[in-house]
Amino acid sequence: MRLLLVEDEPELLRSLAKALREEGYAVDTAEDGEDGLYKATTTDYDAIVLDGMLPRMDGWEVLKELRRTRQTPVLMLTARDRSTDRVRGLDIGADDYVVKPFDLAELFARLRAIIRRRTQQAKARIEIGDVAVDIPSRSITLAGEAVTLTAREYALVEYLALHRGELVTRTILYEHLFDENESSLSNLLDVHVSNIRKKLGYDFITTRRGHGYCIEQ
Ligand code: CA
Repeated sequence: MRLLLVEDEPELLRSLAKALREEGYAVDTAEDGEDGLYKATTTDYDAIVLDGMLPRMDGWEVLKELRRTRQTPVLMLTARDRSTDRVRGLDIGADDYVVKPFDLAELFARLRAIIRRRTQQAKARIEIGDVAVDIPSRSITLAGEAVTLTAREYALVEYLALHRGELVTRTILYEHLFDENESSLSNLLDVHVSNIRKKLGYDFITTRRGHGYCIEQ
């Protein structure tokens, strides 16, 4: 899953981007509303974490403009003492919000929920043969036994599982799993797929030569 994080406080931007990457998300960043809107309308993100108070263009303006063309899930960051801002955000199309200073676990949970809602697959658990993907806990079992995957391997399995039965092209996977700083590492995807097959079985992911990957069944 690839996210856009729009936040102008450098320390919060840095620490939140790091925490999200550790969760297995690819994270692009923007430090003002204009840059945020530009990226949000030119890249197909899985979700956007959008601060309200931003220089050049505030978060509500960004959201309003974004909603003219895109329905990307948006989680807004708002200040504790400004309940009118939260209502305004929801009215113009925010999917949810967290109040600063927020608990990271809560932000992660709300983010997973808005992404899940938008992928039309409200199911928290996806079963594919012997493999079960538990989205709230980000865990995977094979025939009932827990399997340890890296954050990025998990993200790849989750993305394919959410689009089960569809051919997912390499381009789409690069767009959703890697951020703006690492997209050029062209064999990374094959390495992850190979590692996942070692852990979950060779047939778990089907390669469509030259096109992409697919989880069948
Ligand atoms: Ca701010």
